[in-house]
Amino acid sequence: MWSVRVFTLYPEIFPGPLSKGLYGKALEKKIWSLEAVNIRDFADDKHKTVDDKTFGGGSGMLLRPDVLAKSIDKNTNKGERIFYLSPKGKKFDQRMAKELSKEKTINLICGHFEGIDERVIDSRGIEEISIGDYILSGGETASIVVIDAVLRLLPKVLGNDMSKNEESFENELLEYPQYTKPQIWEKKSVPEVLLSGDHAKIKDWRLSQSEDITRRRRPDLWKKYLKKDKK
Ligand code: SAH
Repeated sequence: MWSVRVFTLYPEIFPGPLSKGLYGKALEKKIWSLEAVNIRDFADDKHKTVDDKTFGGGSGMLLRPDVLAKSIDKNTNKGERIFYLSPKGKKFDQRMAKELSKEKTINLICGHFEGIDERVIDSRGIEEISIGDYILSGGETASIVVIDAVLRLLPKVLGNDMSKNEESFENELLEYPQYTKPQIWEKKSVPEVLLSGDHAKIKDWRLSQSEDITRRRRPDLWKKYLKKDKK
């Protein structure tokens, strides 16, 4: 079973959208599990304070290191990787999703306000993950993105391994266009080659479509793809 522990001020958000459809079924079947730890439960004072002003001035509040560290120490086990969702982190991608899908348990810390005290990151060996170059109000939605990307890679969750291997970002290429019934819709037919039944030809067509769309839309991926091809 793959498991994820999420540290948050809003545990009620989880599993949220991850409880629907195939992910929900996989959750019931215990193919994966999620535990939401409420950081506030580890605050010591009677007001359950979790944040405070930043030293050196500036607007906004930071999560206190003592409260956050206590929640981590009381809930994680030795050897488990701990990640903080953070705009300063390493950019999350399909490769990282694959890497995380191979861990037994991962821990995700959701920041709020201005973020968290830097000292916890160092003292607890926390790795930082960013889901993109924009600022969210909290790490919860980012966590859901990360978990979603990992879940579809777990064996037995989606059931169809083929569909995963041909998706965007596999082999550094974006996906080719896809079509379903009706064969003619609003006077437009689907590409002839897909009706030919010639699997080799279809494969070639799809690859050339993938190459074309990647070259036009994502020069960064295209460069990687060309490099890979030469190896
Ligand atoms: N002051 C911080 C931003 C804080 S945003 C900075 O400038 O870097 C509040 C919280 O939202 C963060 O602690 C983080 O957990 C989450 N967050 C915001 N943007 C994110 C992103 N792009 N990726 C992952 N987490 C993000």
